[in-house]
Amino acid sequence: MNHKPQSCPNCGAEDIIKHGKTSTGKQRYLCQNPKCYVSTFIVDYSYNGSNAYVKRQIIDLAQSGRNVREIKNMLKVSEWVVIDTIRRHESPYY
Ligand SMILES: [Zn+2]
Repeated sequence: MNHKPQSCPNCGAEDIIKHGKTSTGKQRYLCQNPKCYVSTFIVDYSYNGSNAYVKRQIIDLAQSGRNVREIKNMLKVSEWVVIDTIRRHESPYY
């Protein structure tokens, strides 16, 4: 559980630093790229964002008008997973 990510999952910048822990004890990182809109992110290898079923749910929720924060809370995935999934789907709602 101590893996340091190679780069920011959003912008790909390798300039990332540790940025405290979440309330559930997960390591939070801060992206140093000033143009990155995520800025902080959590690397959680237990998250199920790579699961096709979850991605399907993210898209369905987005298309029914839910915002990123709502989807994140409903599916218990990282915010960047929601953003990335929607963006990859090229949803008109994003
Ligand atoms: Zn970044």
